[in-house]
Formats: sequence, structure tokens, C-alpha cells
Amino acid sequence: MNRSASEPPDPESTASSSGMGRAEGSANPGRSSREPSAGDDGTSWRQLAMRMVQAQLRSRDIRDEAVLEAMSRVPRHRFVGRIDLEAAYADRALPTLEGQTISQPYMVGIMTQLLQVRPGHRVLEIGTGSGYQAAILAEMRAKVISIERIASLARAAEQRLVSLGYGDRVTVVQGDGSVGIRALLDLSMPDEGGAEPPQPFDRILVTAGAPSFSDELLAQLADPGRAVVPIGSRAEQVLHVYELRDGTLSETTCVPCRFVPLIGERGWAD
Ligand code: SAH
Repeated sequence: MNRSASEPPDPESTASSSGMGRAEGSANPGRSSREPSAGDDGTSWRQLAMRMVQAQLRSRDIRDEAVLEAMSRVPRHRFVGRIDLEAAYADRALPTLEGQTISQPYMVGIMTQLLQVRPGHRVLEIGTGSGYQAAILAEMRAKVISIERIASLARAAEQRLVSLGYGDRVTVVQGDGSVGIRALLDLSMPDEGGAEPPQPFDRILVTAGAPSFSDELLAQLADPGRAVVPIGSRAEQVLHVYELRDGTLSETTCVPCRFVPLIGERGWAD
């Protein structure tokens, strides 16, 4: 899928992905006493989020209404630390802790749209980061397992997701997601021979730059299933979309992007 926007996404905004979905059920972001209620000119975060959707997503090539709606409902400012409310909704990636980034809204939108998430889908995300992408997927009523390599980020993201009401739909796991989830479960349950292996995932989303779509990840994709992975060098990648159907894997390439590197056994060296 090609980006038709006249204004290309800021390449710096790479590392993140998310989509939008319908805000139904228990997820109830935006009701926290800790959150700033308005920007300098009195604009509420909901207004900023809706403006972001209109100016940065709808006006480009994000057409999936579920994605657009989810992105208007997730309080992005809660994922970006202590910055100005309006900056949280700006057209760029932002730094988070530990030298990582939260992707530009457009990159989150395009990745989530490409993923074609539907309610009830089991989604595996590699690279939890701030948890913003996972929240978007949860808004779309997917069941998400998200893996983050850096323990402090995994903990912070999990707490944030729980406090925003997404705890029942997102599970954050700390570890190397370049090989997916099974190896992690094997490690944590060495003596439970009877443990059920996890079901394959309807969708897999990698939000760090990978050298390839690893065999281990492919083995965890359901059939039919879909995966979106930024693949390329350590410095820059192209979004790849994989579709598995009747045992056949097809691959298409999409927009150029720049994510922080996927570090791990099937990623890059630390
Ligand atoms: N999706 C995130 C942004 C991801 S930034 C968001 O919405 O905020 C990329 C993240 O991938 C970083 O937090 C980085 O620590 C993590 N990462 C890198 N290699 C990883 C690996 N092998 N397994 C899991 N996470 C990894």
C-alpha cells in the first residue's frame, strides 16, 4: 500500500505503531485526576486528539474508521511523559524513557490500518515501549500480548495501561520478542509439562526495526493471519506486510520508516 499523502511522515517518527478502534466495553481512557485537562488555549485533550486524527491521519491515507476512532479516544499525552499537552498530539515521534521513542501518530495509524485488526483478534506486539500502540489495539477490542525487552519500560507501560482501563485486554511481558512468545513461556514454565501452548496469533505487529520476519514469529502466526514488520537495516526500514492464507505466505512492501532497532536473538546485537 502506498502512502498517497502529499506530506510524508517525518522519518524521525518511526518507532511506533498503533491503530484505532472503537471505544467500547470497559476501556475508559481519559478519566484520571492526574491528567492535564487543557492546553494553553484551553483546548481539551479530546479536541487535540480529534484534530490530530483529522489533520494527520484522515487527510492522508488512513481510512479505517475503527483506527481513526481509536486514535481519537486514546489519551496520547498519558504515554509521553512530562511534555506540553499540545506537543503530545503533534505530527512527530517523541522520546520516551531509556532512549526509546513513541512513534509519530501517522506511523501508528498506517501500521494499525495495514494490520486489519478486528474485535476479538489475538494480537502479538513486539516492542511495547510506552504502551500507546497496545492501547490503540485494545481500543479496537483486540486481545493483546505485548513484549518489551527493557524491564523498566515494560513495568511502566503495564501500569499505565492498567490505570487507563486496558488491563483486561493487554498483557505486557518482559523479554526478547524477536523470537515471539513461546520461547518466553517455555523459559518461565520449565516444569509444567502439561501447560497449554499458546494459540497462534491472528495478527503480529513488530514496532522495532528488524533484519527479517523470523521463522519463530512466523510459526506463531495463525492461518489466516497477518503481520506488519519494519524490515531493513539498523538505521532504516520499509514496512512489510505478510499475509498467511492456506499455508501460503505473501509479502508486500509499503512505506519507508525508521524505528529503533529490534535487539535480540533474531534481531540486532545489543
Ligand atoms: N510500540 C511502542 C513504540 C516502540 S519503540 C509505543 O507505542 O510506544 C520500540 C521498542 O521495542 C522499544 O521500547 C525497545 O526497547 C523495544 N525492543 C527492542 N528490541 C526488542 C525485543 N527483541 N523484544 C521486545 N522489545 C524490543
